[in-house]
Amino acid sequence: MTATLIDGKAFAASVRERVATHVARIKEAQGVTPGLAVVLVGDDPASEVYVRSKGKQTVEVGMHSYEHKLPADTSEADLLALIEQLNSDKAVHGILVQLPLPKHLNESLVINAIDPAKDVDGFHISNVGLLGTGQKSMVPCTPLGCLMMLRDHLGELSGKTAVVIGRSNIVGKPMAQLLLGDSCTVTIAHSRTKDLAEVVKRADIVVAAVGRPNFVQGGWIKPGATVIDVGINRIPAPEKGEGKTRLVGDVDFEAVKEVAGAITPVPGGVGPMTIACLLANTLTACCRKHGLVEPE
Ligand code: NDP
Repeated sequence: MTATLIDGKAFAASVRERVATHVARIKEAQGVTPGLAVVLVGDDPASEVYVRSKGKQTVEVGMHSYEHKLPADTSEADLLALIEQLNSDKAVHGILVQLPLPKHLNESLVINAIDPAKDVDGFHISNVGLLGTGQKSMVPCTPLGCLMMLRDHLGELSGKTAVVIGRSNIVGKPMAQLLLGDSCTVTIAHSRTKDLAEVVKRADIVVAAVGRPNFVQGGWIKPGATVIDVGINRIPAPEKGEGKTRLVGDVDFEAVKEVAGAITPVPGGVGPMTIACLLANTLTACCRKHGLVEPE
């Protein structure tokens, strides 16, 4: 058996299209254009690629994009002052501070300085609390994208057994909250979990957010399970030439696809959905700010 591929790239394109249509409507009817400010501190090449891609896609759906590139030695006071300025800027509906920040900056202090209503990454402690208590919040983009793909592929998630591998604040924990919110029976596994293979084998839904290339094995998967691979790992690819690399997920794709019912590829799975959800969150933040109907 070979699993169905869940095409995150195509799904993300449909999400962006819906966002663009909604943006055009509120521009026309209310004269409001959503704006997303992205703050990048330092010159981490991977972060620069993400920020460029976010800016490009923001403009493509008709929103305003504001990029703030700060030097690596920016002081905490200067960064907080910029966030304060963006918090009070009426043209800015969403603020994203690209992580990781340089070591001398306190990440939680910086994130918690963002106005929670503009916290389109959903990392502010208020949004974390709202999500944890099942209230309306800004939902972190990567888990939101995973949930959207799961709902689209499986329909009703209620009663399904889900295992999330990874307990980070940005992926694992909010993913588990979202699945719980959809009435799954959720287990969060991590590096101290015993008999991980047995734990994973119980799952109708597996979400892997580990950060280890090809970690989840085919033999761990319950036949027919839906597997969402969040991992993005760069590994050497000598077959492509000396010094070349390629991206792989946290799931041994070739083996798992023979057992699973459905699987997201890497690249082309969760990654594109993350940015699409960022745009959707920015639109949601804008609609809430102006008392407009929110996108579905
Ligand atoms: P973190 O490093 O913050 O968390 C990794 C988690 O995996 C930890 O909870 C850790 O457990 C757990 N873990 C590590 N080793 C094992 C093991 N042997 N068995 C079981 N669990 C283990 O990573 P992130 O959550 O930030 O990211 C995870 C992956 O997702 C990365 O590859 C990252 O690049 C990718 N990612 C992709 C995004 C996208 O848009 N597609 C967005 C964000 C991340 P413990 O807590 O015990 O240490």
